[in-house]
Amino acid sequence: MDLKPHIRQVPDFPKPGILFYDISTLLAHPQAWQATVQQLEDAVRPEKPEILAGIESRGFLVAAPLALQLGLGFVMVRKQGKLPGPNVPYTYDLEYGQDTIEIQEGAIQPGQRVIVLDDLLATGGTMSASVELIRKIGGDVRGCACIIELSFLQGRAKLDVPVTSLIQFD
Ligand code: AMP
Repeated sequence: MDLKPHIRQVPDFPKPGILFYDISTLLAHPQAWQATVQQLEDAVRPEKPEILAGIESRGFLVAAPLALQLGLGFVMVRKQGKLPGPNVPYTYDLEYGQDTIEIQEGAIQPGQRVIVLDDLLATGGTMSASVELIRKIGGDVRGCACIIELSFLQGRAKLDVPVTSLIQFD
């Protein structure tokens, strides 16, 4: 199934000059959403993950149903201050300033095979920070997967693990 027509492109959201790739239209279409989860499952299963990590917030929507489908646990990578602790933080650089993400201590056991999921890969900053955070608590990150990749931003160059995307925009 061709998923691309199910992504709505919204100019100037959330700020002027940004073209926002909206997965709401994909989520609202049961067959397209089912196909999305199935295609991700086919891509992720060979890596034999033991746990899936979803990045706040749309990454939760991707990782949670996939974890259920694969019979795996699901853990949240969240912005600082959202998770009851104890948490492990990771601070990374943005274009202007810094951001901190967190994961709950013990959410992933040392050596556990993890796949990290988000809705969209843009510059790769969020994904690579999430990979580093999971490594910080001992997780063995086997790959990353997302629905949409903005290929022209070359986010995958920031990642040293295999990256799967279902839809690419050039
Ligand atoms: P980046 O760290 O630049 O790869 O940005 C990826 C994160 O920001 C993901 O969690 C996306 O949900 C969000 N994001 C970045 N750019 C867009 C965009 N153009 N449309 C929708 N979401 C985006």
